Amino acid sequence: MILDYVPVCCPLLPPADLVAEYIRRADARRHYTNRGALACLLEERLAEALGRPGHAVRSASSGTSAIEAAILATAGMATPDRPFALLPAFTFAASAIAVERCGFRPVFVDIDPATWTLDLAAVRAHPLLAQTGLILAVGPYGVLPDIRALEALQEGTGVQVVVDAAAAFEALLDAPRSLSQTVPVTVSFHATKTFSTGEGGAVLWDNAEGQARVVQVSNFGFRGTREALSAGTNAKLSEYHAAVGLAMLDGFAARRAEYARVAGDYCHLASGSGRQGRALGGRLHLPPAVSSAYVLFEAATAPGMDRAEAALLARRVETRRWYGRGVHVQSHFAPPGGLALPATTDLCHRLLGLPMAPDMTAADIALTLDILEEAAALPGGDHGLRAAE
Ligand SMILES: *Cc1c(COP(=O)(O)O)cnc(C)c1O
Repeated sequence: MILDYVPVCCPLLPPADLVAEYIRRADARRHYTNRGALACLLEERLAEALGRPGHAVRSASSGTSAIEAAILATAGMATPDRPFALLPAFTFAASAIAVERCGFRPVFVDIDPATWTLDLAAVRAHPLLAQTGLILAVGPYGVLPDIRALEALQEGTGVQVVVDAAAAFEALLDAPRSLSQTVPVTVSFHATKTFSTGEGGAVLWDNAEGQARVVQVSNFGFRGTREALSAGTNAKLSEYHAAVGLAMLDGFAARRAEYARVAGDYCHLASGSGRQGRALGGRLHLPPAVSSAYVLFEAATAPGMDRAEAALLARRVETRRWYGRGVHVQSHFAPPGGLALPATTDLCHRLLGLPMAPDMTAADIALTLDILEEAAALPGGDHGLRAAE
């Protein structure tokens, strides 16, 4: 495919022929959804890849529905006594959308700027904690939060914790011990994520009875009969999407190697000839520190990021502020009078998504970095700051 611009994200899912081999199995059975054989096989193979028992993976129709299913299977719907859910605003809108679909009023908490994840001291000290029925932690850009610390938070506060680790599937593959028996972790298999079923997701939770509830709430609250026994939704992954996932899994080791090549090129080309690296006006966050779906430029200053963004756009290199200015300022969620979250705001104004794709060429990477360097050298630019800083 020839584009006349460098896209920020260019998904590449398995070709139709490889998916078709799996779809034919569904055709032969005339079974197309409701935890069919392909969805179950995908769950089994993912659990095996994570080195966990089979029940540890339950598929969902999207990353958002996986969050909803994990909430309904644990905290359940919000109650009048505990109407609030605490969550970070440094995330994609889906985190707050899912919380709200379960009846909770989202209350945004700042992040720890060192880890990018929920500030647990701020959660513990939050004035609404006694009226909080859910804490949704997030693994931003695929950076996994400290799951052991979240288990302790849940234990200490008595408030259920769920982790939206939508983009952290690779991090979990590399550290499967972080999976919990008490805190469910959800992932997204959206086309923009590294491992994809097109649309899809999963709840990862090493808890057999808990996962039986996930299956129940994902299928209208049914368990065994056609009676709704609890709150629920339709969060089921179809056999068609599972077929894409199985074909994707067949080639996933090769895919990860392709991403590693691109990340390596970014790293090598950003370091230039000097030991300090090129003067880009900020630093790069590359896989595997973040998900392979992202290459992030952290500008030293907010004006520096604006300049970099404009310079890249002018040369037809697409960028994205993946989390915008934070969910807490999006019109549906912004509290009246606003809410100050300094660490979230600072990072959102300095973090820019650069192009990333498994087949991104070294020439496109070099172009992207050249433009960053030129923008940093503009009058008023952050020229003195080098990639290594
Ligand atoms: C991608 C993403 C989601 C949503 O996943 P979908 O599969 O698109 O529903 C939720 N949270 C975060 C942090 C994400 O990156």
